[in-house]
Amino acid sequence: MRLQKFLADAGIASRRKAEELIAAGRVEVNGKTIREMGFLVDPEKDEIKYLNRVVKPAKKKIYLMLNKPAGCVSTCHDESGRKTVMQYVKDVKERLYPVGRLDFTTEGLLLMTNDGALTNALTHPRHNVSKKYLAVIDSEVTDEELEKLAKGVVLDDGYKTAPCILKLLSEAKDRSEVLCIITEGKNRQVRRMFAAIEKNVCYLKRVAVGDIKLGNLRKGTYRMLTDEEVAYLK
Ligand code: URA
Repeated sequence: MRLQKFLADAGIASRRKAEELIAAGRVEVNGKTIREMGFLVDPEKDEIKYLNRVVKPAKKKIYLMLNKPAGCVSTCHDESGRKTVMQYVKDVKERLYPVGRLDFTTEGLLLMTNDGALTNALTHPRHNVSKKYLAVIDSEVTDEELEKLAKGVVLDDGYKTAPCILKLLSEAKDRSEVLCIITEGKNRQVRRMFAAIEKNVCYLKRVAVGDIKLGNLRKGTYRMLTDEEVAYLK
């Protein structure tokens, strides 16, 4: 088995990230640092170490959804010491990591797993599973503005967004609720899309990823995905 696949299956990181760890010289096989991509290992015989700890292949695959509250980062670790989503899944023994990202202030559906292959597939730019968000804007939003967003807008870095679906749920002078379904996953995409039409998102919550819905899962809690949900993602 290829070393990067072994690490991904073991829940260390996604396949792509595992390749970066190997290239960075963070992985040892039988006491030797391996930088070669595609290096073959025998999980039964070889001793594979990451950060000086022996990596055991993950036995059980875990797939869960967390209702991420605002005020935490969606990474396993934060260099500046901010709270991470890991505090909400402390009782899960397997080493999990989040699938994709939600901003510090964004709430809602965050998938977490130790299945590196699935993370890899779902976070690949070509994988265009839809993501549904509830966005609250602190002003009025006109139909023309929504049409513009739906066709695609140019973000601050020059990237033109793909067409998407928007639905105005409620509107007032100082608050509009918009449902946004996007198929891309650019950094802070929804906030930056609205910024491109000079609107400010003051609340953002992801309510679905493809057919997988957050439903009424309590904030800060998680539930395991059903077999049907896992099959849908794969
Ligand atoms: N778009 C954003 O702006 N933020 C998120 O967290 C997710 C999508």
